[in-house]
Amino acid sequence: MIKQLHIFDFDGTLADSSHRYKLADNGKIDLAHWIANEDKTHLDTPLPLLADFIDMQSNPSIFPLIATARIWCQQSVEWALRYGVTAHVIARKNRNDCRGGAALKIQGVNRLLNLKQFQHITEIHVWEDNADYLAEICEYYSNSVGHFIPSNQGF
Ligand SMILES: [Mg+2]
Repeated sequence: MIKQLHIFDFDGTLADSSHRYKLADNGKIDLAHWIANEDKTHLDTPLPLLADFIDMQSNPSIFPLIATARIWCQQSVEWALRYGVTAHVIARKNRNDCRGGAALKIQGVNRLLNLKQFQHITEIHVWEDNADYLAEICEYYSNSVGHFIPSNQGF
């Protein structure tokens, strides 16, 4: 029986994609630079937390999932395959999908929480390198536990 849902951010939490990340003048991600360098996704490297994530995938009482504001492109699919990620992925649909990062994660998770197999969840763990997203998601779920993962790309 699934007791815990673990929501993992991807960039800066499970995968280091800082080689193609840049801050814009407003202190947030330079989205144009990010999009222009999406073809370098295969050069992202696993972060230490990925090993814990992989372990959770085989724990029957835990449901780990990836909830990311990135578009889950073909290179992301291949990257996941290469590093043993088989979990469910919530991601931005396409570039017309302009939802904020926390909102799109919450919407995706809520869709799952309606399903029968998730009716016995007692804790929702949130793993994030973006403090704002972490606060927003944890505020939304009363039974949540937040885990802030410091990175050099959490904005
Ligand atoms: Mg992140």
